[in-house]
Amino acid sequence: MPVIKKTRRRPWIPERKPFERYRHHNTQFYQSSPWRKLRKMKLDQDPMCEICQQQGKLTPAQMVDHIVPINKGGAPLDLDNLQSLCNACHATKSAKDK
Ligand SMILES: [Zn+2]
Repeated sequence: MPVIKKTRRRPWIPERKPFERYRHHNTQFYQSSPWRKLRKMKLDQDPMCEICQQQGKLTPAQMVDHIVPINKGGAPLDLDNLQSLCNACHATKSAKDK
């Protein structure tokens, strides 16, 4: 009898959404090592504030921000959802988000 190897799909198991685990535990998330690694990677890649850059200014980035906030469903560990920001731009963005 031939043995047919199949990769089992389990459509009844909902897809894992890693951000949901962190939704109410942002502090925990920002201390997690996957986040710290990604944050460092992002800062290595874009060491300058991206918003300032769009305005023709060069300001060293002081933090990595989620473009779509995690609590609004943004991917927490996706480089495409991250931007390097200086403190001033981050404050402006946070004010707008509220
Ligand atoms: Zn800036």
